Amino acid sequence: VLGAGRSAWLEKDRRYVWHGMVPYEAAQHPLHVVRGDGPYVFDVDGRKYLDAMSGLWCVNLGYSRRELAEAAYRQLTEMPYYPLTQTHSPAIELAERISTWLGGEYRVFFSNSGSEANEVAFKIARQYHAQRGEPHRWKIVSRYRAYHGNTMGALAASGQFDRKYRYEPLAPGFVHVPPPDCYRCPFGKQPATCALECARHVDDVMRWEVDATIAAVIAEPVITGGGVLVPPDGYLPKLREICDRHGALLIVDEVICGFGRTGAPFGHQRFGVCPDIVTMAKGITSGYLPLAATAVRSEIFDAAFATSEDYAHLRHVNTFGGHPASCAVGLATLDIMERENLVDRARTLGEVLAGELARLEDLPHVGDIRTFGLLAGVEMVEDRATRAPLAPDLVARVVAECKARGVIVGKNGDTTPGGNNVVTLCPPFVVSEGDIQHIVDVLRDAILSLS
Ligand code: PMP
Repeated sequence: VLGAGRSAWLEKDRRYVWHGMVPYEAAQHPLHVVRGDGPYVFDVDGRKYLDAMSGLWCVNLGYSRRELAEAAYRQLTEMPYYPLTQTHSPAIELAERISTWLGGEYRVFFSNSGSEANEVAFKIARQYHAQRGEPHRWKIVSRYRAYHGNTMGALAASGQFDRKYRYEPLAPGFVHVPPPDCYRCPFGKQPATCALECARHVDDVMRWEVDATIAAVIAEPVITGGGVLVPPDGYLPKLREICDRHGALLIVDEVICGFGRTGAPFGHQRFGVCPDIVTMAKGITSGYLPLAATAVRSEIFDAAFATSEDYAHLRHVNTFGGHPASCAVGLATLDIMERENLVDRARTLGEVLAGELARLEDLPHVGDIRTFGLLAGVEMVEDRATRAPLAPDLVARVVAECKARGVIVGKNGDTTPGGNNVVTLCPPFVVSEGDIQHIVDVLRDAILSLS
């Protein structure tokens, strides 16, 4: 592969492949990864990078886990495929393990991507209410800035309008509310005295939407792709309480936060809430094979689908969801996480990351630093007093300077023009404390290179 040379590959890439969400300039110079080892990836020219984004918030266990590849191989040679309209052992075992990780009893439906997992959640939430005699409950409340996927429903739920408006009309029935953004509070409040206005506002919206038309609220524990917005401790519990009061379900999107990223098995557990539906993907196989899941609390599931007649109404089906090889890799992923105590490790490393990032607080253009487990966002501003977002080309330069120094970082935000100003970090759980210091040193140099 290396022999083919970068320019020959690039020429073919430009001719035959298109890449979404990448500015034209960046698409002309994509990172062409050919190999990975632990937290490192190597490009087609043999250059080594420390991946501080785990690919795309996925590869939590690092890039060279033979055990995961062997689990897939074993399963593919033994029984490569059978649909889950029937059943197979890897899916049964993994569903049970997910339920254990969630700390309650859940019924799990498998699919292939985070987007699909959320589509399933919306369908099941609507059907739950319809089965219980409330078919008018079909709307979903979600937050501006959140991303929930690329399909017509999941994109409609997303609150990033730059990703949406070119593809409208999307699925109807999604109502957006302002996010918990303590740096730029949409309600003009200060964290110490805000009384969780952003959560309380959902209560108003429920009433304004005639109360009983809302099927569910969907929320990530931390809005990740929208710029790592860490809510105040009471935010998610308050959403739970509001949902209960209005008879709506609470869906938690754990596509990024799930499987240890936040230093807990699932992000919502750090806030002490019990969701009705949990969606997950990415880290479930550490990115080695596609897999996603929608877990419905058994109590909710049984309330709508307990009898054989009710069960017959479940018409949602999927060809590759819960592919045996993906489930086998999912089980091997959880085995490794449990054996190596990686949830605890993510929490400890997260504390190291937060401590190291504090060194950047006084640098020019650093507006806000937000961390939650092994996940961080550094919001870049023109100047700290006005909090005006740093110009997009300068934020892009920070990312490029990190890459030039051998560290891959991400860039996210509210996706409005000029709003993509949060440098994001989401390293694999296998990085060392030294790697974290190095990531922060490189980010520091990259930021200083702007002056
Ligand atoms: N939910 C969240 C929170 C995500 O970050 C993403 C993807 N980044 C999705 C859903 C969609 O997942 P997928 O790309 O696997 O469809």
